[in-house]
Amino acid sequence: MSFLKNLVCKECKREYEPGAVYVCEYCFGPLEAQYDYDAIASSVSRAKIQAGPLSIWRYRDFLPVTGNNYVSLCEGMTPLLKADRLAKKIGLKNVYVKNDSVNPTFSFKDRVVSVATTRAKELGFDTLACASTGNLAGAVAAYANVAGMQSYIFIPSDLEQGKVIGCGIYQPNVIAIKGNYDDVNRLCSELYSVYKWAFVNINMRPYYSEGSKTLGFEVAEQLGWRAPDRVVVPVASGSLMTKVYKGLNEFSRLGLIGKVETKICGAQAEGCSPVATAFRNKTDFIKPVKPNTIAKSIAIGNPADGYYALDIARKTGGCVEAVTEEEIIDGIKLLAGTEGVFTETAGGVTIAVLKKLAEAGKIDKDELVVVYVTGNGLKTQEALMYAIPKIPIIEPTLAAFQNIQE
Ligand SMILES: *Cc1c(COP(=O)(O)O)cnc(C)c1O
Ligand SMILES: [Zn+2]
Repeated sequence: MSFLKNLVCKECKREYEPGAVYVCEYCFGPLEAQYDYDAIASSVSRAKIQAGPLSIWRYRDFLPVTGNNYVSLCEGMTPLLKADRLAKKIGLKNVYVKNDSVNPTFSFKDRVVSVATTRAKELGFDTLACASTGNLAGAVAAYANVAGMQSYIFIPSDLEQGKVIGCGIYQPNVIAIKGNYDDVNRLCSELYSVYKWAFVNINMRPYYSEGSKTLGFEVAEQLGWRAPDRVVVPVASGSLMTKVYKGLNEFSRLGLIGKVETKICGAQAEGCSPVATAFRNKTDFIKPVKPNTIAKSIAIGNPADGYYALDIARKTGGCVEAVTEEEIIDGIKLLAGTEGVFTETAGGVTIAVLKKLAEAGKIDKDELVVVYVTGNGLKTQEALMYAIPKIPIIEPTLAAFQNIQE
C-alpha cells in the first residue's frame, strides 16, 4: 500500500508522475512529494507507529515509497537527550539535544539516503550517486552496498580525512573534484542525464529530502507526542530545515500531535551564511557566496532550498543566525563538556547559535527547545587540533606523576 500520490511543483503546482525527476519543466520550481492524506488518516495511529520498526520506517506511511523492501541500516530513532547542564550554562530551562551523530554512518544523512535508495531501487536503478559535502558520501556508499548497487561519489578535493576514509572503506567509486561543493553539484547536474544513475540529492531529491521529515516526527514522538516550542536546525541547502517543519505539520494535520507553533531557527557558519545574511537584511534574495569555514558539511554557497528555509523562519517567528569559527569550536566543547556528546563542526554551529540566541535574550527561559546535532565529531578532527588540552608525557613513576600534580 502506498500513499504517495505524485510529485508537485512547489511554485506552479503542476503535477508529475513520481519518477526520477526533480524540477518543473514549466517554471523550473523544485518538485515535492504529495500524499493522499485522507488515506493516511485511515491507516496511521500513534499505536501503529509505536509498534513499528525502531528506525525511520516506523513513519513509512509518510514516506515516498511504494513497496515494503526498505534499504535500511536501522537509521533513526536516535537519542533525544534532556540537556539540563547545557541549558543551565546558557540560562535556559528546557533544552533537548537530538543526537543524530549516532546513526549507522554517523550523520543524519542515513535518513535521507535510506529513503532515496529504497525509491531508486523501486524505480529500477542499479547505480547510486551523489554530490557530497562529506557526510552524504559515506551514507551513499554504505547504502549502495546494502542495496547491491554500484555507487559513484563526487566530493570536493579538500574534504576531511574522517569523511574520506569513512566513505572509502565501503569501496565505492570516489572522484574528488578540484573545487567546492557548488562546483561538484554543478558537475553532477550535468552527469545525471548522461549516465542513467540515481543521484540521491539531484534527480532523486524529491524522495531524498522527505527522509528529513523523520527528524521532525521523531522529536514529536519522543517528547510524548507534542511539537517543541523552538528548534535550532543546521542549514546547508536548507532542505532539512523545511522538512522538520513539514514533518511536524503533517503530524498535526493527521491529529497525532496538537497545533504546531514551533519557531524554526536555522543555523549557519559565518564563513558560509547566505541564508542568514538574507534573513538579517530582510530580503528574499539569497546571494550565493564562496564558502570558507570549518563547518564543511554545511558549506553550500548556493543553497537550493534557501528561499523556502528563509520563508519558514519568517512565518514561524524563528530566525536564521550565523556564528564565527571560534564560536563553532566553543560550541563543540560546550556540548562535550556538559552533555558528553562529541559533535562535528555542524553540531558546533547549532549549539553556538542556540547559545547566541539565549544570551541575546531571544529565547524565553521556559521554552522547550530542541537543538539538532546532525554529525559525529570523529569526522572533523582536523578542526580540533588545537582545541584539546595539551597532554603531559611522563615516566612511569609515582614521583613523575606527583611532579606534574603540583
Ligand atoms: C547535510 C547536512 C546538513 C543539512 O543539510 P541540508 O542540505 O540543509 O538539508 C546538516 N548537518 C550535517 C552534518 C549535514 O551533513
Ligand atoms: Zn512549476
